[in-house]
Amino acid sequence: MRGLSHGKLGLPLFVAVVLLAGSAAAPSADQSQRARSAARGAAEGAQNDADFAAFVKQATTKPEFLSPLVDHLPRRAGVPTPKEILGYHIGTEKKLTYTTDQFRFFRTLEKALPGRIKTFTVARTEEGRDIVVAFISSEANIKSLEVNRLNMQRLADPRGLPEAEAQKIIAATKPHYHITAGLHSGETNPPESVMELGYRLAVSEEPYIRQIRDNVIVSITPSTDVDGRDRYVDWYYAYKINEAYEGGENYGGPPYWGKYVFHDNNRDINYGVDSLRAHLEWYLNWVPPIWHDVHEAQTLLYTFSGQPPQNANLDPMLYTELPFFATYEVNRMTNYGMPGVWHFGFVDMWSPGYLGFSAANHNGMLRMYEVFNQGGANTKKARLQGSQTTRQWYRPNPAPAGEVDWSIRNSINYAQTGLLTALELTSKFPSMVVENFYKKSANGVAAGLNKPPHGFVIPAGQRDQTQMDRVVNLLRRQGIEVHRASGSLTVKEGTFAAGSYVVKLNQPYGRLAKTLLEKQTYPDPQLNTYDDSAWTMPLANNIEVKTIEDKAILDAAATLLTSDVTTMGAVSGLAQGTFLAVRHNGSLNLITLRYRLKDLAVKSAKAAFKAADAEFPAGSFLMPFSDRARKEIESLGLVATAIPEMPEVEIVDVDLPRVAMYTTWANTEKVGWVRLAFDRFEIPFDLIHKDHVQAGANLRAKYDVIVVPHQTQNGKSVVFEQPKLSRPLPYKKSDEFKSLGMYAETDDVRGGMGLEGVTEFQKFLDAGGLVMTFGVSSYFPAEFGLARGVDAQRPAAGWYAPGPYVQSEILQPAHPVFYGYLGQKTLAVRWADGPLLQAGPPAEFAGFMGSTPERPQVLARYQGGEAGVLSGLMRGADQLRNRPMIVDAPSGKGRVLLFANNPIYRWQTFGEHALVFNTLLFWNDLPTGPAAQPTTTAPPQ
Ligand SMILES: [Zn+2]
Repeated sequence: MRGLSHGKLGLPLFVAVVLLAGSAAAPSADQSQRARSAARGAAEGAQNDADFAAFVKQATTKPEFLSPLVDHLPRRAGVPTPKEILGYHIGTEKKLTYTTDQFRFFRTLEKALPGRIKTFTVARTEEGRDIVVAFISSEANIKSLEVNRLNMQRLADPRGLPEAEAQKIIAATKPHYHITAGLHSGETNPPESVMELGYRLAVSEEPYIRQIRDNVIVSITPSTDVDGRDRYVDWYYAYKINEAYEGGENYGGPPYWGKYVFHDNNRDINYGVDSLRAHLEWYLNWVPPIWHDVHEAQTLLYTFSGQPPQNANLDPMLYTELPFFATYEVNRMTNYGMPGVWHFGFVDMWSPGYLGFSAANHNGMLRMYEVFNQGGANTKKARLQGSQTTRQWYRPNPAPAGEVDWSIRNSINYAQTGLLTALELTSKFPSMVVENFYKKSANGVAAGLNKPPHGFVIPAGQRDQTQMDRVVNLLRRQGIEVHRASGSLTVKEGTFAAGSYVVKLNQPYGRLAKTLLEKQTYPDPQLNTYDDSAWTMPLANNIEVKTIEDKAILDAAATLLTSDVTTMGAVSGLAQGTFLAVRHNGSLNLITLRYRLKDLAVKSAKAAFKAADAEFPAGSFLMPFSDRARKEIESLGLVATAIPEMPEVEIVDVDLPRVAMYTTWANTEKVGWVRLAFDRFEIPFDLIHKDHVQAGANLRAKYDVIVVPHQTQNGKSVVFEQPKLSRPLPYKKSDEFKSLGMYAETDDVRGGMGLEGVTEFQKFLDAGGLVMTFGVSSYFPAEFGLARGVDAQRPAAGWYAPGPYVQSEILQPAHPVFYGYLGQKTLAVRWADGPLLQAGPPAEFAGFMGSTPERPQVLARYQGGEAGVLSGLMRGADQLRNRPMIVDAPSGKGRVLLFANNPIYRWQTFGEHALVFNTLLFWNDLPTGPAAQPTTTAPPQ
């Protein structure tokens, strides 16, 4: 336990409120609830915890925020209660539980009740903490967990399973209901709720809970983002605990949750973060038909029922199961008198990238709650207002508009009552849940068998094998079967060489493969969606993938891949090797090679050349032959030729820049994805922030390149971030708060770099530095005059573009930024909410015609218009017509490269990453001076 410094700011107010709330409890409703719960308990003569009953009554701010399912807590001889394990009742004011205590909680219960609870340590997080899943069920079910798991696996892949046999398995299999909490660390109640839920499920002898235990296998992940939970709890005890009951300063949350990302841990479509991949792997091993992810937001409990737009690749049955559960929950909780429970009008599941949606993606069912709370565990005055307090068909008993005291215990009552209700329903229809899962899995196989498309082919021989391998491995990570053609393969769509990758869609997860590989055709352009509208992998990876309608693909001779592919690179001509020429084929591993060989003198050709009968494109590396270099080239999947002498071609040194990455404190998440990519590709950098760009920082002495990833909302918010508070908010490691101060440290997270910081950026540029800005951050150099020839504008009314893929035109294909794209004229990129740029000579030179020293060059631009939307939804696409996408803007002796796209978006836009990596490799070899052709781009009409 941490020693708590109890609230100073709002304590008197808070005490008054709790006393009031306690004494104001309306006796009639309370008594009737009690009568019902007493009846439940009395039926079994169960012993209830009197201390808990008094606590929960006091900690719940109004009787209608409590239910007969959770207004009492059963006891069982020999089993410690939550309070006996943790030292406090779950839901106690100003108490949040660290993950070590959560895991201790479940392990203690396991020891006391070994037949009913079993915990597993699934994996380790980025920071070395355990990821734990606890199973709760009857003694018989816990004993046969493995048998049940194997049954579920058999049903998950029903190929070759006779129907009669399937029915036998279904009859013998319990539905496995998986519950996850704490994916979002700022959402503090779910991890508390599921602990008490686990205890109840294990201990209670109430008939409905016995039925749950007998008929359902429940598993609980008490903290999905384990690192983030501990960091948030640290921050809560350091600061938030002192927040006032009403008004006053808000201390927000810590600048980091997990190592890399915040909410985007629910958007990691390719499972790039290791601990998120661990959750997916766990899912694919156990295949629970239901994954219920509990979040915190919305008034007062929202349960997801599957609103449009619908992804037509998801089984229609899923969209009947979701409202079946959701309306049952609304019904029961309305019966208990709990207001504000509803099921429609908040989120859809168009994007397949949410973590829990891996269940829906794999023929299971994703369930989701949002439960009201105000972050942390302080009771606060809440103002309930707006549409969520209105009566609707999906919200028959809304939360009352107006002011209300809200305690974390209220949230725990809601979350737990909902979950118990859902489990109760499952226990009433256990075979239906299992049978539906089987049926959806069978439908998955049938879909690819019975109607086109029947497959996808990734043709062999594309420019960069490493990118094709990456896509295959990302598909395999999702449990999708991928084959490799054993010989040349001919179908209606063409002939493909041996070694081509083949995805046959008559497999259980064939529909997921289709979802990931096809173009997203948005069903109704008038509908909004909660996250991205597109993710098409061939576009995101800049590779060719053929959609195959010819059913013959299902019988194509091909070998199933049983492990990840890492095609070894090839070095030819070893006999004559004095030098090595490494093809710049766009592989992202090229920069890794350069860093691994950082002590060697590596050069690069400024133009294409021929050597030892091989063609090498511009940007190819040249270096002295060595065995070490050869081994690295091979292990990284690159292609090289050993050559006797240096070719006759203009060369440059590939100098490695000293790289800084700039982060705001207000918005570290999108920076986190770039950190992840740099870490994965072994690109070293310093993470710098406002403290590092204070007056006199002399950035140029330390760095050659500063990368400013996509972050915040505009230039002003990059510069000024969040306003300072009456007291500083340090983010620093201490003995008491060990997980603070990781990844960066500061004495005050508030207040940005300010104008002094902008001046330091300008000095850096004046002295020859290179600044790269991505996406929204590209407002910063345009708005603050670092790139004086560039203006940044916002889209006008009628614009809506949730992450579609759009066409761009490469205007200067010979520019080093485009090395490895091999003369490609167009490039699909993800629209990233960056600025609509306009580039021309700076206004102060407007009177002079022709070139000026600061004339920016447009290297690539968006096509714009409807025809330029390649996948997903963009309303108002005409506004994008001919807008610059990448601008090289001279500034002082240096330059700013503004990317209106976000070339490193999540673990996803690999087709754009090379734009950044090339800039790093050739940072001091980019062409200088004005372009030969005027490149001013007129704004659209
Ligand atoms: Zn959330």
